[in-house]
Amino acid sequence: MEKRGTFAGLNSIKFNQYFRTNDDCTKYIAEIKWEQGYHCKRCGNEKFINGIKPYHRRCLSCKYDESPTAGTMFDKVKFSLLLAFHIVFKVVTKKKGMSTLELSREFELRQKTCWGFKWKIQQAMASSLTHPLQGTVHVDEFFVGGPEEQKRGRAKGNKKLVILALEIVDDGVGRAYAEVIEHASSKELGAFLNKYVSKDAKIIADEWTGYAPLKNEFSKLEQVKSDTGKNFKDIHLHIMNIKGWLRGIHHHCSKDHIQGYLNEYHYRYNRRNHMGSMFDLLMKKMILNSPIRLL
Ligand SMILES: [Zn+2]
Repeated sequence: MEKRGTFAGLNSIKFNQYFRTNDDCTKYIAEIKWEQGYHCKRCGNEKFINGIKPYHRRCLSCKYDESPTAGTMFDKVKFSLLLAFHIVFKVVTKKKGMSTLELSREFELRQKTCWGFKWKIQQAMASSLTHPLQGTVHVDEFFVGGPEEQKRGRAKGNKKLVILALEIVDDGVGRAYAEVIEHASSKELGAFLNKYVSKDAKIIADEWTGYAPLKNEFSKLEQVKSDTGKNFKDIHLHIMNIKGWLRGIHHHCSKDHIQGYLNEYHYRYNRRNHMGSMFDLLMKKMILNSPIRLL
């Protein structure tokens, strides 16, 4: 099988040279989509001829003509593929991402249109859940979109309760994941840890009672006094950074969509040392993961 071309790096001039036309983008999508071979979506047959349009494939058995974008997050996008690629590149490679307002100004699209596409990008940025956090992991919860004083109560009104887990490594911090939860109950805290943290990890939480029953499942879980945050400096800094980012760039983001923003933040954060490969990796997720309908 021929090796597909991949775009790497953060240089927008090179990006413009690599993707000049919609056909360049269609080709990129087709190569990712069928990199592991062709299977007709309708009948599963593996033999095809070229379809009617460039890079389409037509099944030799049932004659179904499949476009490269069919079944991907680029299906039925309301603007050109070239524009869609530019938006993905900007959102993923800019250190702080781009708000839908900025996107609508730069690309002369309606903000609502940008929002719909960015929402898809954020879904693709969700963790694949294949690399749980290891070693020493700090966990804590915080509120987004309101004052702090109601710590640990049920999230009310506009506020959303978020749980965060952060790897602590020798020379600083490793990866992190965050999720919106309803209550800081053992059930929800446990579900989060099961999803994102290895069973062998040394999990460090504060003295909140919700963590105590989880010691049965996570044998190395320890609870330590927060001491007004002194014992949790790194995770508190991380929380401040998320909040600052949400406030600064995305202050219009609806509280119901916080999870998408948490996905976006951590997609970039967890790959901060491999930024050059972020675009291609995200393209793969947008093409190979099943498309998700807009809420
Ligand atoms: Zn077929």
